[in-house]
Amino acid sequence: MNAIPAAVLDELRRIVGPRGWASDPADVEPYLVEWRGLYRGAAPLVLKPASTAEVAAIVAHCRRTKTPLVPQGGNTSLVGGSIPFEGGGEVVLSLSRLNRVRAVDALNDTITVEAGCVLADVQAAAAAAGRLFPLRIASESSCQIGGNLSTNAGGNAVLRYGSMRDLTLGLEVVLADGRVWDGLRGLRKDNTGYDVKHWFIGAEGTLGVITAAVLKLFPQPQAIETAFAAVPGPAQAVELLALAKAMGGGQVSAFEIVPRIGLELVLRYIPGTADPLAAAHGWYVLLECTGGKGGELRADLETMLGAAAERGLVLDATIAASAAQAAGLWKIRENISAAQKFEGGSIKCDIAVPVSRVAEFIARAGAAVTALVPGTRVVAFGHIGDGNIHFNPLQPAGMDKAAFLARWDDVTRAVHDLTHALGGSISAEHGVGRLKREEIRRYKAPVEIELMAALKRALDPDGILNPGKLL
Ligand SMILES: Cc1cc2nc3c(=O)[nH]c(=O)nc-3n(C[C@H](O)[C@H](O)[C@H](O)COP(=O)(O)OP(=O)(O)OC[C@H]3O[C@@H](n4cnc5c(N)ncnc54)[C@H](O)[C@@H]3O)c2cc1C
Repeated sequence: MNAIPAAVLDELRRIVGPRGWASDPADVEPYLVEWRGLYRGAAPLVLKPASTAEVAAIVAHCRRTKTPLVPQGGNTSLVGGSIPFEGGGEVVLSLSRLNRVRAVDALNDTITVEAGCVLADVQAAAAAAGRLFPLRIASESSCQIGGNLSTNAGGNAVLRYGSMRDLTLGLEVVLADGRVWDGLRGLRKDNTGYDVKHWFIGAEGTLGVITAAVLKLFPQPQAIETAFAAVPGPAQAVELLALAKAMGGGQVSAFEIVPRIGLELVLRYIPGTADPLAAAHGWYVLLECTGGKGGELRADLETMLGAAAERGLVLDATIAASAAQAAGLWKIRENISAAQKFEGGSIKCDIAVPVSRVAEFIARAGAAVTALVPGTRVVAFGHIGDGNIHFNPLQPAGMDKAAFLARWDDVTRAVHDLTHALGGSISAEHGVGRLKREEIRRYKAPVEIELMAALKRALDPDGILNPGKLL
């Protein structure tokens, strides 16, 4: 990558004014590295525009001067997509100062927010209006709406409410030539041709810079019930989900699978956690239902768990008696990844398969990785309700961590090949970035890659928007 001429950088600084840029190495550093430290980039300038007009002027100038730029939100996607390359020939475009809630339309159940709004702030703004914005992810206090849209984020409540693609009604986007597309429509029905907003959702900043969005709001649930149930295995967990859906009439809002090894790691390493059930079991489900009336919801949940026990789908279960107890159950689920770190090296595979293939996936993937590295401890957990499993093989006890992590490529290859064979996706969260850029070519049909490349050429002919990422 070529160095960016000083005159280009001067003009970009002028566009955003003195508060809108950083070039001191210490100030730029946080924008060049992500939490896991897998990627470290270089950039002479970080731009922090405060308005859509400033973003448009930046992109127009970058287009004229063929200067590549890397949009960045909260920098939590961890696949190298939000980090510039090492050559120092790109500028970083941080959306963090575009952080206003522009409007809440309670009657239309919509909120219009700028791309740099932190997800937790959007949840809070919705709650202040008596509504729910249902995207819930562990990075919600750092990640931003623009990043959530660009990675099509989903989380614990996808089962009930969908991912960002399902939660978005309209977008405002700065195109690669600096024009602004105002698609901030709050419509639930619009049959006027191509749905342009979907080109930019999940595009990881390669097709345009998202500056604002109209998002869907929902009623605040009046009651929440959370249960932790022991199940014979993943196959029964999937059957339990079907039963809960059928008997609950749409009340299931989260359905997570937890293996015994995951629970044990949490109990060992995370303070303030306790085994929710008296006896040990191989697999558990964390089940959350939300609905209108508290007493009825709890009675429905108890009836459903009773019916499941009669069918042999549930071996034991507890329902949280308070919000604090429910938080304790979620703490177990949310800390499995963190607890794994204390136990040694893990290989992370974040995949999705159809819900009906999850049990087969867990069994076959487990067999595949233990055949490759005997003694590997299989930690498979997560959003079984929408088919997204965090399949994180953990090094055998006593094995050298570096030796285990050296097997990353052949372990992920085996897991990804199986995922593909079962009709799944090798990236269910976080996106593609640099980490899986070559890998998606192995699994997507050439015609699909061609369509993606054609869209990229049409929308960004000079390749200035996040080049080398995703495609
Ligand atoms: C602890 C933890 C838990 C997580 N849990 C989940 C989870 O449950 N579900 C899930 O889906 N993800 C999860 N993630 C991943 C991550 O939080 C999401 O991918 C999130 O949506 C990224 O948002 P961000 O603002 O950090 O984006 P960034 O990482 O800054 O950027 C992501 C991509 O979007 C592009 N981009 C950012 N903003 C814009 C914009 N305004 N316009 C155009 N392109 C843009 C960037 O160039 C980059 O390619 C988790 C991450 C962590 C660290």
